[in-house]
Amino acid sequence: DTSPLTLLGLGAMGSALASAWLTAGHDLTVWNRTPGRTAPHAARGAVVATDVADAVAANGLVVACLLDDRSVRATLDGVDLTGKDLVNLTTSSPGEARALAEWATARGARFLDGGIMAVPPMIGTPGAYVFYSGSAEAFDAHRDTLAVPAATNYVGEDPGFAALHDVALLSAMTGMFAGVTHAFALVRKENIPPRDLAGLLSGYLTAMTGYAHGIAEHLATGDYTAGVTSNLAMMTQGNATLLRTAEEQGVSPELLTPFMRLMRQRLDDGHGDEGTTGVVDLLLR
Ligand code: NDP
Repeated sequence: DTSPLTLLGLGAMGSALASAWLTAGHDLTVWNRTPGRTAPHAARGAVVATDVADAVAANGLVVACLLDDRSVRATLDGVDLTGKDLVNLTTSSPGEARALAEWATARGARFLDGGIMAVPPMIGTPGAYVFYSGSAEAFDAHRDTLAVPAATNYVGEDPGFAALHDVALLSAMTGMFAGVTHAFALVRKENIPPRDLAGLLSGYLTAMTGYAHGIAEHLATGDYTAGVTSNLAMMTQGNATLLRTAEEQGVSPELLTPFMRLMRQRLDDGHGDEGTTGVVDLLLR
């Protein structure tokens, strides 16, 4: 299947996507706000549209990979989307994706939102995948084409779900790197090679990620104590050691303290026999 498609946006990610589709032999029409970026793709056989309306008119499947939600709106404003399948691979919030779905549907398009779980060099390699949500019909119609640059993971008809999955994983990564950053700061002034610590961090954090399944069991069953081997009472004591060590090493504890404060609150609420699952409930507003 080498069905034709249009790609709007040839930034770092858009260029990687274009390259994957061209390599696989798809007829690709490209458009970019700054025309200079189209040349390398034209040299590989892409059709260049100078006008976005022409780019959209060229094919039934239109993929957008632009900077943010605002640039998608600005680009497609006034463009005829009747009968089109619009796939938005621009990172957005769930609310933005839902609003864009409504906007596109009202203009006669089927809409899919996507969240890319890869950096550009991973596109076209086995590790890359994209969350999709929105029109199941559009996903079924284009699943083979969409699977060319990265594997697909369709997470439901709610157009906000792809962004929600994407941002859930990115948020977890943010917390993880807060911890990694703190760890490097702790040893920074000592004669401990950063490269050695990196190896230790990578191994230890990989081993610890399995506990996500334990938290999931707690949330699924409502029993937050099942299988807990490190309870909140013990961990809160441990937190005090972590904070004293930060103090001794002259490192600000600011990346750790918000989570520790919530662990303490849950302990004070009488849940010392749980793990950290109860903090999930404390976060909900
Ligand atoms: P770049 O900054 O490299 O490219 C941005 C693209 O958006 C360019 O094509 C740019 O056009 C276009 N653009 C920006 N503003 C407007 C506008 N107002 N109207 C029209 N076009 C506009 O970003 P990336 O390619 O890296 O990222 C694209 C999307 O992919 C983002 O949503 C990003 O979050 C997502 N993504 C990126 C990843 C990455 O590691 N790079 C990873 C996962 C997702 P111009 O050339 O004219 O400036």
